Amino acid sequence: MPSDNRVGEKVQDAPPSPTRVYPQPFSMAQGNSEIVVMKFGGTSVAGAEQIKRAARRIVAAREAGSQVIAVLSARGKTTDELVAQALEISERPDSREMDMLLSTGERISCALCAMAIHDMGHKAISLTGSQAGIVTDSSHTRAKIIDVRADRIRETLDEDRIVLVAGFQGVSTDSRDVTTLGRGGSDTTAVALAAALGAGVCEIYTDVAGVFSADPRIVPDARKLAMASYEEMLEMSASGAKVLQLRSVEYARNHGVRIHCRSSFEDSPGTLVVTEEETEQETMDQPFVTAVTHSEAEARVTLTGIRDEPGVAGKIFIALAEAGINVDVIIQNEPVGDDQLADLSFTVDRSDLRTATEAIEALGEVCAGVRTDDRIGKVSIIGAGMRSHPGVAAKVFQVLGEESINIEMISTSPIKISCVISADRVPDAVKSLHEAFELGADAVRPEDPSGAEHRPTVSG
Ligand code: ADP
Ligand code: ASP
Ligand code: MG
Repeated sequence: MPSDNRVGEKVQDAPPSPTRVYPQPFSMAQGNSEIVVMKFGGTSVAGAEQIKRAARRIVAAREAGSQVIAVLSARGKTTDELVAQALEISERPDSREMDMLLSTGERISCALCAMAIHDMGHKAISLTGSQAGIVTDSSHTRAKIIDVRADRIRETLDEDRIVLVAGFQGVSTDSRDVTTLGRGGSDTTAVALAAALGAGVCEIYTDVAGVFSADPRIVPDARKLAMASYEEMLEMSASGAKVLQLRSVEYARNHGVRIHCRSSFEDSPGTLVVTEEETEQETMDQPFVTAVTHSEAEARVTLTGIRDEPGVAGKIFIALAEAGINVDVIIQNEPVGDDQLADLSFTVDRSDLRTATEAIEALGEVCAGVRTDDRIGKVSIIGAGMRSHPGVAAKVFQVLGEESINIEMISTSPIKISCVISADRVPDAVKSLHEAFELGADAVRPEDPSGAEHRPTVSG
């Protein structure tokens, strides 16, 4: 069970926030710098102009001498619209057919971008995930990449053509069906291709200038991070910073892929996601808190009247795992009455709530009752330096208390503290924690020539 071992510490022990000293210009690429993988997100290919802009960037990289693979997302809100279309037809769409439907969005972007590149006098070819050799398991709508068979991409690059790969999708060799990789999955397609091809860097072009100290849509003075370690980025993505899909960061860490997350609308350097050793080398003074993240789309399930005996929790969470549900924060209380019955609460993604309750109900008599709350959110603070600084949890709780925000559940890791709170208080919680830990752009020295400091810009 998660426990907060920092809860008992005194508030006055909380140290002041040190200022991060920024690195001099660093080298973005390592490995085979001849090959570049560039990924463009939905906003970056939304309209005709944006597709042409992405095409110009791709062509510029080719003209600079690199072999280029570009991974494209579906245009603008296309994936949301496709999901809505499916729900108009069926309350519980078949997951295989859902993947057939959702995978079309990315194909459209790639075909259109290939046309734009042809008009610029370069050769390009668009490929589906399956044609590109992205092999996954067969869990529809949340498939995992298990292999990348990149021979066709290599041959195409050798024919001096730019390769455009439809993100977010693959094929299961077991079922021979098209699969999709979960929302935000094009990031993972890009990282997997970068790993398979030994690319020097995986460039993730998006609608913000990098990874910020908080979502710039909520905190306008959030600060762009010059670098983040895989560990910090994993915690950030896992706790709601959707700028990089969690799986993409896991894949990058496991395969040593350097990610450069940056704006598709301007040229300045973004955020480099690399090993902790590298961030320590480049960053002379490690701040103890790096970012505040949030999620407004969670739900809580509470099982009441559970028998307090070995094996019951295992049964419940095996059923949830088999239903493909990621459980986040878990709390179980000790029974206080003579009846030896406990209560158990856990949080899940709001979109998984129904599947989760169905999985529990299918178990029959494990508990006396099931209660749900679908208006749950979460705010987290993350920082590798937190390991060696006591008092951080105490300061988080104090700040939320002063804002009259009720903390409903708490979980921690060595570099993260998360509080489950009411979804409608999430923006206030993010702003107050960001200010209290002095993470804003005003807390550091102004823009330096390396572009490491940058005010966030948000389009769309
Ligand atoms: P794309 O369509 O390019 O994949 P996403 O919408 O998936 O882009 O991710 C970019 C968005 O992530 C930004 O517009 C921003 O609102 C959000 N975001 C949340 N937290 C952060 C953060 N800490 N830093 C940067 N962006 C963040
Ligand atoms: N188009 C998909 C989504 O909206 C995948 C992606 O953009 O990464 O989730
Ligand atoms: Mg995304």
